[in-house]
Amino acid sequence: MKTIFEPFRIKTVEPIRVTTRDERERLIKDAHYNLFGLHADDVLIDLLTDSGTGAMSAAQWAAVMRGDESYAGSPSFYRFEAAVKALMPFTHIIPTHQGRAAEAILFSIFGGPGRNIPNNTHFDTTRGNIEASGAAGHDLVIAEGKDPGGLHPFKGNIDLERLEFYLGEHGDSVPCVMTTITNNAGGGQPVSLANIRATAALARKFNKPFIIDGCRFAENAWFIKQREAGQGARSIPDIVNDCFAEADGMTMSAKKDAFGNIGGWLALNDDDLAEQARNHLIRTEGFPTYGGLSGRDLDALAQGLTEIVDEDYLRYRIRTNEYIIERLDALGVPVVKPAGGHAVFVDARAWLPHIPPLEYPGQALSVALYETGGIRGCEIGTVMFGAHPDGTETPAPMDLVRLAIPRRTYTQSHADYMIEVFEDLSRTKDSLRGLRIVRQPKLMRHFTCRFERLGA
Ligand SMILES: *Cc1c(COP(=O)(O)O)cnc(C)c1O
Repeated sequence: MKTIFEPFRIKTVEPIRVTTRDERERLIKDAHYNLFGLHADDVLIDLLTDSGTGAMSAAQWAAVMRGDESYAGSPSFYRFEAAVKALMPFTHIIPTHQGRAAEAILFSIFGGPGRNIPNNTHFDTTRGNIEASGAAGHDLVIAEGKDPGGLHPFKGNIDLERLEFYLGEHGDSVPCVMTTITNNAGGGQPVSLANIRATAALARKFNKPFIIDGCRFAENAWFIKQREAGQGARSIPDIVNDCFAEADGMTMSAKKDAFGNIGGWLALNDDDLAEQARNHLIRTEGFPTYGGLSGRDLDALAQGLTEIVDEDYLRYRIRTNEYIIERLDALGVPVVKPAGGHAVFVDARAWLPHIPPLEYPGQALSVALYETGGIRGCEIGTVMFGAHPDGTETPAPMDLVRLAIPRRTYTQSHADYMIEVFEDLSRTKDSLRGLRIVRQPKLMRHFTCRFERLGA
């Protein structure tokens, strides 16, 4: 089916204020050409992130009303815990306010100077928490995972040979083995069940706990069902259970595959580790039956977890990305293929070859998407990764624009509108100009730096 069937109807709407191109040119100039500086009200289609930006269901809003705000032992917690355990068979479920809080607690135990932690690709907050503890993170994704156009079905897989070598080489300095499903920093690409099992077997062989960063577990399970031999007839919850049965723990951002606007958790099987984690939680997040969340958040997540594994939803979700990618591909816009779970990545360096990497083709395209159509995407390239602590700058490996798709928020008409904006740009793109940075902070400059357009 070409049409994306959106398996929901709309009960509450949020108006989108339509702006003109002239207005947008002024607004983005006033924001110093940094899309993080825009007011969200001035954006028509907001694809900055899929984190916490999805639509809750009627049943989730009903669950919000059931939320119980008791400090200790709230029934909301027990509903949340049961919903997590129904999918992920861990002994201890520790709620947190976001995924990064779960990571901070985990690496208060597993981090520390001299330690080494492998992953397919560490997400930026994961790496940040590892490095803040004094430890080092290493990315061991397969070579196909770094080739934007290559069509491997599981580009998020960890390279098992490299992992085995790594575990032999780093020995006791490795506190745990991680894998991230789907591989967010690698384009939302999935990890196969076979790869998860083989990674778990290697971790066991070297006597290391195996931790899954499970933020997009349902999308990953959908890809396993579609692409992995022998999995096509199985239910999504069964596949999810199999993935996590291999692990000793998980970190989770419930702003992704739990349909939450906020939330997260850390899960562990080991009693001693869980006790250490809860002690840290009490100091930084809150009592163990609420973490950093209100009871109503916990109830919304409990309900969200039952909805995220629905196959009609997952088909719609993944089909949306495929549809946009097919249409962009047909227009000659270079995109990362195959479609990942949560976002469409456009290769701006390849599409705008007249703009050199140090004039930020990804930022130039992001600005042009906003001016032309009010679309807000996110540069993932030299602006984000090109600056070094010593003040020098080099091109990032790629200059991409990420269009992250919020869950259940936009329709096929919005997707068609986006494609029209790209059509328009494909006629004018040769006249787009690069930018230069006129002011930047020392760290994570992409959030706040200011740009000027070159040749103005
Ligand atoms: C979003 C995300 C995180 C961090 O979660 P927050 O809720 O944003 O703190 C960690 N890992 C992955 C893979 C993510 O996508």
